[in-house]
This record gives sequence, structure tokens and C-alpha cells, in this order.
Amino acid sequence: MKQVSITGIGAILFVMTSCGNNASNSGSDEAFSSSNPFYKASELPYHAPDFDKIKDSHFKPAMEEGMKQQLAEIDKIANNTADPDFENTLVTLEKSGQLLARVNGVFDVLTSANTNPELQKIQEEEAPRLAAHQDAIYLNSKLFNRVKALYEKRASLNLDEEGMRLLEWYHLQFKIAGADLSDQDKDKLKKLNEEEAGLSAKFTNQLLAAAKNGAVRLNAKDELSGLPDEAVDAAAEDAKARKKDGKWVLALQNTTQQPELQSLNNRATRQKLFEASWSRAEKKDANDTRPTILRLAEIRAQKAALLGFKNYAEWTLQDQMAKTPEAVTAFLGKLVPASVAKVQGDAKELQAVVDKQKGGFTLEAWDWDYYASQVKKERFDLDDNEIKPYFELNNVLEKGVFYAATQLYGITFKERKDIPVYQEDVRVFEVFDKDNSTIGLFYTDFFKRDNKSGGAWMNNMVGQSKLLGTKPVIYNVCNYTKPAKGQPALISFDDVTTMFHEFGHALHGLFANQTYPSLSGTNVSRDFVEFPSQFNEHWALDPKVFQNYAVHYKSGERMPQQLVDKIKKAAVFNQGYGLTEVLAAAKLDMSWHTLATEAPAKDVNEFEKKALTNAGLNLAQVPPRYRSSYFLHIWSNGYSAGYYAYLWAEMLDHDAYAWFEENGGLNPENGQRFRDMILSKGNTGDPAVLFKNFRGRDPKIEPLLRNKGLL
Ligand SMILES: [Zn+2]
Repeated sequence: MKQVSITGIGAILFVMTSCGNNASNSGSDEAFSSSNPFYKASELPYHAPDFDKIKDSHFKPAMEEGMKQQLAEIDKIANNTADPDFENTLVTLEKSGQLLARVNGVFDVLTSANTNPELQKIQEEEAPRLAAHQDAIYLNSKLFNRVKALYEKRASLNLDEEGMRLLEWYHLQFKIAGADLSDQDKDKLKKLNEEEAGLSAKFTNQLLAAAKNGAVRLNAKDELSGLPDEAVDAAAEDAKARKKDGKWVLALQNTTQQPELQSLNNRATRQKLFEASWSRAEKKDANDTRPTILRLAEIRAQKAALLGFKNYAEWTLQDQMAKTPEAVTAFLGKLVPASVAKVQGDAKELQAVVDKQKGGFTLEAWDWDYYASQVKKERFDLDDNEIKPYFELNNVLEKGVFYAATQLYGITFKERKDIPVYQEDVRVFEVFDKDNSTIGLFYTDFFKRDNKSGGAWMNNMVGQSKLLGTKPVIYNVCNYTKPAKGQPALISFDDVTTMFHEFGHALHGLFANQTYPSLSGTNVSRDFVEFPSQFNEHWALDPKVFQNYAVHYKSGERMPQQLVDKIKKAAVFNQGYGLTEVLAAAKLDMSWHTLATEAPAKDVNEFEKKALTNAGLNLAQVPPRYRSSYFLHIWSNGYSAGYYAYLWAEMLDHDAYAWFEENGGLNPENGQRFRDMILSKGNTGDPAVLFKNFRGRDPKIEPLLRNKGLL
């Protein structure tokens, strides 16, 4: 996932908030002064945040001052008596809000990856204020009138390509934000925006607490039968950390299915773990997210209606590659029949295994991965625990992910131990171009913690911009299980793929080559932003890359060829499940965001069931990847009416990879072409045009279907 930030005009909306813990003092009384590390740009290389100096109490005063400064800057632009021109309006706008961008870039990483009650409290207080701040800019009539005046005479302005794109982009953003509304409607919109921001923040913290409380505690070792020893050790350590000595704890991952389900022999434990996941946020307690999301959906519908749209999706898809809900529905509709047929066939096959073993039960959602993993073992003779020793985390990173980037783009990496980090497991690498010039910094934060949101994501701490003279400072966050002390971190092939994925986002950020910060790097539409990341996943199985990193952590031997062949053959196995669960989640998202104001949903569970049934995706054995009540992407992380983007981008990534296959695969020439035409382009062109230029035609869906084994 690319963490979505609204970086326009330097402001960043963030991602999470509080959980009912009361911090003693969130630092609101501390004045902003030169002793605050955010006062000026960091003097560390690349303006990297100085985590040795940054304290929780610095955020609030810096944020408040950052908003104040930017509003003064905006005021000056809006009230300029000189006629609007590109320089005195848009360029000045792009330069505004630098203090706020500085502090939010750091605040985002901490609140999502290493939060604490004090930060959560600040977040809950500041989220509505930041939403109001965005409104103060985008709903400023005088400012919009200047942008509009420029837009109307754009043909005569003699702008270069990026400048023209910036003008068109701002004009559309102002319109989407409601700049054309009457003052009365603007006030209504502002109130709704503030309420939405507060509720999104609340949702994140409710969910974090719910997932933490939802962890499954086990008292007898045979309940964990089937789990590999490292996982049992990790579960015991987790119990210890939670002060539950002598017991085991299985923490919840953010998706419906939990990784342990594929190896737990005890059916009752499987059911328990699945149900803990499924009902984590529906316990009718303070962390039950359902009231929060009913109101969120209602607010979004009301906002869309204010702006004159039928629903939220129609309103917010305007600046996306897909452009309309109808285009999204048509696209998803093309995938449903093939994927449902595939999982129905697979379900029969799995049931046959259950019956052959005289199980005497009907396959349920919590059995799927367990039997799928048996079929996989039987058919491909592939055991995930047999392959994990070849995927040692550091090898995968340096000899896999970095190596592929070196082969394709000529870039190299050097670890920087002198740059301060926010947590001891975080590592920093400096990235160099092929001529040895410097590109930026790349941070990794790989291990799961209780104070980290689930999933994996990328973001910038410092964005690239030639106008501001900044180079990218980027981080990847994952949730790999931290090994017991002294043990190597052995990860699954899924985890390997995730690492390549997040690094694909990082490359999109690192190769950014824009003048204007708003158009830089990964600041592209959601249905395009997952394209570079998913595309990068393909290199995990490239023979040259694979044999370089898949090395046994003890013996140092390469993975035997027959095991490699098995992984490749098995790669399409169970893809129907993966596709169908994502489709179901995408359909849920679109259903919530095509609700009309007149008919708000009243019951989350009923609504969810009906939405899935209407889509032909209410399948007991294949539940959605995220249920409404724990669907962080759409309620808080900026993927509202946007979860389809993952599948949309899959169409793009498989098709682009097909181009590589047709043109000689992994080599520096092809890499340079992809870098020039896609990775370095940021949002300087219409994504549909960028793709077409690279591929030579519009995207086709067949490579996606073929790669999923659905053709
Ligand atoms: Zn992603």
C-alpha cells in the first residue's frame, strides 16, 4: 500500500488517532521556538528527520505554527493586488506550508508505525484542525478565483508541460474540494469534513485496539499443533510481552485470513482464530467500529450531494484513471465470473481432500488455507516451511530487492548507521545513481509491533522537488514476525513479494524528477500508484534475481532448481481465492461509496451481506479480504471508493511486464525505458497517456487473467 497523503500545498492529512488512553500532557502548552527541531529544515543529510532530537511534545506546537504560517502565506497570495500569474499564484502556493510538511512527514511515520498514547491524543485533536486547514485553503474563494482566472487563459500562458499539468491539477482539486460552492454550502462542507476527519482517526484507533484485544490466547501446546517451531516460539514471546507467561498468543494480522490458518492442525483453533479475526471490531464495546462507519458513509454521501453528485464515488473518481463508478463497475464485472468459477472449482477440490481424510464436515473459510496448503504440498510437493530457510530477510532485501534495482536501473545502496532512527529495528540506506550521484534515503521498518498499524506501506518523510531543492527521504513499513533473539528472520514467499511491492513504491518516489512538490513521485491517482509497486513484484521470480537471493541461511547453498520450479508452478495455485477476496472487498468499498444521501445504511452487517450478494460474491468459504468493520483502507487510509485500484493497477502491471517479456526481460535498457516513461514521471501526465506511451496501446486485461491462471 502507498499511504495516501494529501500533499497538495505541502499539507499532509494523516492516518490514525487515539484509543482511549489519556496522555498526561500532549505538550499543548509548549510554545514554538527555535529549540523545536522542526523550526527549520533538518541539517542532517537530505534533511532527514533528526529523531535523536524530536520529542512527542514538539509536534503539536510545530503543527499549530505550521498551519498558522501557511494560512498567512495563502492570505498573501489571495490578497495580492497584482493580477494573477503563474509565479505569484501557483509557484508561491507550491512553496507554502513547508513547516507543516516537515512536521507532518515525521508525524505520519510515527503515528502509523510507532505510535503511543501521547501521539494518538495529539492526532485526535489535530486531525479535525488539519481538515479545517485544508478547507481554509481549498475553499478560499479569492484564491480559487486567481487559479480559475489562470486556468481560463491557460492557452496563452506559455507554460511548459509540467506547469500546465500543475495548473490543470490545481483547478480540478479546487473544484473537487468545493471551491465553487456558495458560502453557506461551504460552511456545511467544512463541518462535514471536520467530523469525517475526527471519525476516521477514531476508526483507526478503535481498530488498533480491537486487533490488539482480539489476539487469540492459547493455553495448551497441542492447540498450536502444526505451527513451525519458530512461530510457536514467537507466540510464546508475544505472550510474555503481554505478561501472559506460559501461554501462547496469536496476534491478528489486518486481513480476514490469518497466516497461521494454513498450518494449524487443530480445527477448533482454526475456527477460533478465524472468528477472532472476523469479529474483532464487532464486540459491541468501545472498539466496535460499526457506529463509526455508518456515520462516515453517511457523511461522505452528504458531501457528494452538496457538491452536486449522485454519490461519493462519482464525486471522487473524477481525477482518477478510471474516472467514473461505471468504469470501475464494468472493470470489476469482467473479473467476477472467471474468479468465482475458479474458486468454486477449487472449493470442490478442497472438499474432496476433507472427505478423503474422512473429515466429516463441510469446508469453511477457516479451513481453506489449511487444505489449500495440503493440496499445494501434494500437487507441487511444496511446503512453505521447507522454502522459508532460503528467504532470510536481509538476503531478500540486499541480494533480491536491491539487486534487481541495480540490474534494471543501475542504482546502488549503502547503509548509513549515522542517521538517527525512530526505533532500533529501523535501518537507513543511501541510494546512488549509476553515475554515483546521490538520489535519496531509504528507511526500512520491517517487524510487527503492537504500536504499528497492520499491513505494509510506503511514504515519504521528505518529498522530492526541484523548486524546493529537496531529494526524497522514503520509508517502507512491513509487519513481518520478529524472530526470537538470535534467530534469523525467515520470511514466506508472500512476505518476499510484499518487500518487492513496497520497494516498487519506493522506486517511484526515489526516481521522482519533478519541479513541483504536488506533482512529485507517488503523488499520482490511486489507481495508478499501485502500478509501479505491483510491477516490481514480478522481479521476485525472475531467475537471475531469484537465484541471487534465495540462499539457505545456514548452508549458504542456492535453492535447488526443483524447489524453484515448484515455487513457480505453485505461484498460480490458489490465485482464484486471492482475486476473489480482493474483488469482494472492492465491491464492498464501491457499495458503501455509491450510497445515496436519501437512503443511508442502517445496519452494517445487513448492508455488507446485501452488497456481496448483489455482486455474486457472498461466498461463505471465500469472505472478503477485509470486512467493512476492519477495512482500514477505505475508512481511514484514503482508499475510499479506491480499493478497486489494486486490481486496476494489476491490469497495468501484468500488461507492462508482458512488454518486458516481449522485449528481452530484465536488462538496463528496458529498465531505463521504464524509469524514463513511468517511474520518473510523477503526476506530470495523464496516467492513461503515460501507460499508452510505454505499452504502445491501451491496457489489456488478458495478461492479468493469464497470470492468475484464469484464461
Ligand atoms: Zn502498495
